[in-house]
Amino acid sequence: MSNKRATLGKINAISVYVVWALFILLTFLSLLGLSGFKFIDYGVLGYVLKFLIGLVVLHVVFAYFIRCPYCNKCLTIQGFAPTHENSERQFIFNGWAVVVMRWFTGKIVCIYCGEQVNTNVL
Ligand SMILES: [Zn+2]
Repeated sequence: MSNKRATLGKINAISVYVVWALFILLTFLSLLGLSGFKFIDYGVLGYVLKFLIGLVVLHVVFAYFIRCPYCNKCLTIQGFAPTHENSERQFIFNGWAVVVMRWFTGKIVCIYCGEQVNTNVL
């Protein structure tokens, strides 16, 4: 059975990966620009920035529909409240970032209720 929300979840995770990659790229290019390299076309950089903002908006819209089957909260949107004690950590990251990183392993832990969620059947 096809599962539209699971597909949406995958697209959502990929959009976050792309945002992270572009963000690193933009930071790198900005640093190069600041250190005096003049080969950067700022017009192109502007398009990349608009694309990045578009993806972030897309992610927020998608993320609204991707909810925990146990507590019905948005799995990849984190408020200011501390995460559940069962919530996973990875390197210096915790909370929603780890959820997104582990999305394609199929098993994540909800940052709100601490239940294990299968991302292939949402
Ligand atoms: Zn939950």
